Amino acid sequence: MHNRQYWETLLQRQAFCDYALIDGKRYVARSANTYGVINPATDTALAEVTACQTEDIDIAVQSARQAFSSGIWSERPLQERKAVLLKLSALILEHREELALLESASMGKPVLDAYNIDIPGAAHVIAWYAESIDKIYDEVAPTRPGTLATITREPIGVVAAIVPWNFPLDIAAWKIGPALAAGNSVILKPSENAPFTAIRLAELALEAGLPAGVLNVVTGLGVDAGAALGKHRDVDVITFTGSTTVGKAFMSYAGESNLKQVWLECGGKSANIIFADCKDLDLAAEKAAFGICFNQGEVCSANSRLLVERAIYPQFMAKLLDKLSDWQPDHPLNPDAKMGAMVSAAHKEKVQRFIQAALDDGGILRAGGASLTIEQVANYIQPTVIEVAGENISLWRDEVFGPVLAVKVFDDESEAIALANNHIYALAASVWTDDLNQAHRVARKLHAGTVSINTVDALDVTVPFGGNRQSGFGRDLSLHAFDKFTQLKTTWIELR
Ligand code: NAD
Repeated sequence: MHNRQYWETLLQRQAFCDYALIDGKRYVARSANTYGVINPATDTALAEVTACQTEDIDIAVQSARQAFSSGIWSERPLQERKAVLLKLSALILEHREELALLESASMGKPVLDAYNIDIPGAAHVIAWYAESIDKIYDEVAPTRPGTLATITREPIGVVAAIVPWNFPLDIAAWKIGPALAAGNSVILKPSENAPFTAIRLAELALEAGLPAGVLNVVTGLGVDAGAALGKHRDVDVITFTGSTTVGKAFMSYAGESNLKQVWLECGGKSANIIFADCKDLDLAAEKAAFGICFNQGEVCSANSRLLVERAIYPQFMAKLLDKLSDWQPDHPLNPDAKMGAMVSAAHKEKVQRFIQAALDDGGILRAGGASLTIEQVANYIQPTVIEVAGENISLWRDEVFGPVLAVKVFDDESEAIALANNHIYALAASVWTDDLNQAHRVARKLHAGTVSINTVDALDVTVPFGGNRQSGFGRDLSLHAFDKFTQLKTTWIELR
């Protein structure tokens, strides 16, 4: 695989888009305001990107609405829609190195993770929704004789997709794949930290044959561009992935404006429960380490609460600490890096404050606990494990979004379930046991959108992903994602 020098050379040559993309054209905000995007591995500026505000969002929405109403995409034969999206998937793979580099440089993840996981993942999701276009049938209702009632799905109109920085291209693909496949027009608003792959995605979509205006990308700050989309009276659907606080704001925006549909995929604090009869504790320890360190722990479904049955506690912790030693952070362009830089200095400091508060609250540090400076940049956090003193400390209650694991011991199954469920978040959970009955029993009782048994973070385009409680209620991926981007129409015919 390519060495560090190869990626450094690519980075030096790489152009960073500093514009939005509206109506098929590069667009600069009317105000001419910009915001800076920083490479967290070097603390240097990558670009000053145009900062869209309400007046720019109006133009993007008009473009999307006009494209939708014209039927140029919404009424296009399904085979043609499919061909365009398959071409987009192929173009994503053709630009795999560039997209991986843009992802890594803006948010700090190891470039090889982006290359091996994120970019092919996005291409696969787009292709999967492309292939699904002509395989979904509508319904005929069992109405009384002399009538025929059809239930058909229609595209809704203008969809605004607001996405975070932790998997910028993947989560954009999770939204635009089904939204475009269903025939909608989309306005994509990437995070201010990582806007580049969204812009390139829209450029590649144009190259693939998507008509102008069907996919617009607006760059800008959340409080400006994001809020303007949330409050816009001609946006029909918001599909949002991000923090619970901002998710709540989107529900208010909808209430204040046109009662647009709002679908939220928000934060998490997922429990990973290790029962004493789990036979492969080595694998459980390896996956527990992965579950908190992958993507620097900047994962909504990170397994950030570890619950271990008392009988195996010392043995399991020894294995876990051993596995965690493989996850020391490194410069993200280093091909051996398993963890890279945190997204920003401010976020790294926030993670450090969580660690300090947990220790001040009586937590016991079992590993890590410090930030690291690599090549003169201090944006790295060691894998950290803290045995927490109670359920009411912030490390147990709040989403940290870093490689910091909160650990508790339990004595029996009911205590494990109670500890796991006593939480505002309900995104994902993992259970390790070789007792089939226990696996099913516990899975049924856990509050979570996804329960992984004998693995962590089970994720595939074929199954829905999303949570309950304050983790939100939307579901990305699988055919169920179409529920967000289509509306049902009943057509009732009295036969004469
Ligand atoms: P964030 O909520 O700060 O930002 C998400 C998006 O909302 C960004 O595009 C941002 O610009 C925009 N935004 C911010 N403030 C806004 C406002 N006041 N009005 C309108 N828009 C606004 O989240 P983040 O820091 O980018 O991402 C991390 C969060 O995302 C974590 O909480 C994580 O759990 C969550 N997340 C959830 C999932 C999931 O599927 N459930 C997946 C990935 C990330």
